[in-house]
Amino acid sequence: MADNTKPWRIVAVRRLSKPQLDTLSEIADVSYFEDITTTNRADFMSALATAHGLIGGKLELTEAMLAEAPLLQVVATISVGYDHLPLEALSQRGILVCNTPDVLTETTADTAFALIMATQRRLVELSNMVREGHWSAHISSAHFGTDVHGKTLGIVGAGRIGAAIAKRGALGFSMPILYTAGTSKPALEQELGAQRRSLEALLSEADIVCLSVPYNDDTHHLINAAALAGMKPTAALVNIARGKVVDEDALIQALRRGQLRAAGLDVFSQEPLQADSPLTAMHNVVVTPHIGSATHETRDAMAQLAVDNLVQALAGKGPRTPVNERHWRRTNNTQEG
Ligand code: NAP
Repeated sequence: MADNTKPWRIVAVRRLSKPQLDTLSEIADVSYFEDITTTNRADFMSALATAHGLIGGKLELTEAMLAEAPLLQVVATISVGYDHLPLEALSQRGILVCNTPDVLTETTADTAFALIMATQRRLVELSNMVREGHWSAHISSAHFGTDVHGKTLGIVGAGRIGAAIAKRGALGFSMPILYTAGTSKPALEQELGAQRRSLEALLSEADIVCLSVPYNDDTHHLINAAALAGMKPTAALVNIARGKVVDEDALIQALRRGQLRAAGLDVFSQEPLQADSPLTAMHNVVVTPHIGSATHETRDAMAQLAVDNLVQALAGKGPRTPVNERHWRRTNNTQEG
């Protein structure tokens, strides 16, 4: 039953701790869904129908669902990427979208580096060899990996996360850094000696190509068959951005043909990745289940930032990390609104 002393109604989905839910409950009636399944979908939609705020990780919000949420004012996603949200439709409705940049930058860069290390040194493949009882003699050159230090690291999308990956490579592993971005990055160039390149030039020169662009119409299949053909056959591709930045079928073909040596993938065209995907059978491919930001500390910080954004926005104050603030139409909707 609604508590009429609270001005707002909030729908919360996944990833919030008890203290964070308590904070939301101080200002709102909160409907919390640990997950949305076929069983509780109708309850979720019914809660959304009267909600002023929506907060959560992996929010699946379509334009059709938005039409069923006439009071919605703020959507706080617990992620830096917002490609899963219908941003244009939300902006047209004057609904504020907030995301969680910065707090996940270092952790996601760590994940990228873990994939770099794993692909270069064949960590998963060789660990499995030991576990499966095939470590029977001294290892031979057939088991050797490829160095990380000193190799040329190409960062496609040198934003917050890309820069943090570049810093690890340059300062920790003496790697020359190449990058692409919409704008040049003088700080990276001065501090790390990074050099800006066209995508084609970066792909042809880098030993390790790391993708850290946002997913949108411009970056859909940015790494397609032609781009893969332009990479060194000795190179590795690491993707911590979004699966659809890469044409996955073309990547599978390129790996089969030996057009590139290895891939480290945290994100996929369709998630969860099916176990029978050709990628899972390739020894030179390391796959992780979209764990870029998935540490206890960082997921908690992301959820806290999303809570702060939602509470501040509903209070009519400027949220810390808005995505579309200029489209935000602040209203005074309350439970009666
Ligand atoms: P960011 O700071 O906005 O950085 C994105 C960078 O990409 C910017 O440097 C931007 O250029 C550049 N860029 C945009 N379009 C490009 C294009 N077509 N070609 C080349 N560069 C382009 O974002 P971030 O915080 O680093 O996050 C990046 C992405 O990582 C997120 O959008 C998200 O999808 C993904 N991510 C994944 C995980 C995971 O769990 N695997 C975790 C966190 C984030 P400008 O600097 O000129 O704007």
